[in-house]
Amino acid sequence: MDKLFFIANWKSHKTTPEVHTFLWSFVPLLNKLDLANKQVIICPSFTGLEILSQFVRANDLPIAIGAQNISPFEQGAYTGEVNAQQIKEFAGYVIIGHSERKKYFHESPEEITQKVKQAKAAGLTVILCVQDDEDTVVEGADIIAFEPPSAIGTGKPDSPEDIAKVFQKLYHMNPSALLLYGGSVTPENIKDFLNISYLRGFLIGGASLDPDEFYQLIAQC
Ligand code: PEP
Repeated sequence: MDKLFFIANWKSHKTTPEVHTFLWSFVPLLNKLDLANKQVIICPSFTGLEILSQFVRANDLPIAIGAQNISPFEQGAYTGEVNAQQIKEFAGYVIIGHSERKKYFHESPEEITQKVKQAKAAGLTVILCVQDDEDTVVEGADIIAFEPPSAIGTGKPDSPEDIAKVFQKLYHMNPSALLLYGGSVTPENIKDFLNISYLRGFLIGGASLDPDEFYQLIAQC
């Protein structure tokens, strides 16, 4: 059976002690789960990548790691950027084109394309965010997360009918990519989405910050 993906997008949350605190609570809960058909991925801030990967390796945990952004350039004189090779030291996945990056950092389609190229060249698995079925899906996206901005962090998820329509189109245009939904998914509503055709998992913001909430959400699927 295909695995269902649960990808935690921690955004700009959690200091390194807070990453540890999360893990001390989350790991005993995770150990209670049957993960044969589930893939848990945590995407912390850049500052949390090393500590998270050390903890995962030292304890041989079934958690994969992702970054939330990537430089559009190779290594070089790009102050403040974190490049694909640097991310690859700690993570196997990278989120690209999140709507918050488009809104606050004015990421353009060209920049997103460059980021995907860099990620792929380094062997990272790309989680590309799209806002609707008109959004460009850059070649090379392994996972496509449909995240309508009106649903992100608002407590108002998109309807399963709407998601199904968007997935239909995304699937036919990108049959090899895995399709995820993201936007106000919680333990209370996650079951509403499970029967959507082509759904292969979730990108989860707010509800992934609390270990118990994140566990409850995974446990129900
Ligand atoms: C997100 O930002 O990727 C997201 C899905 O956020 P939330 O779950 O908080 O709506």
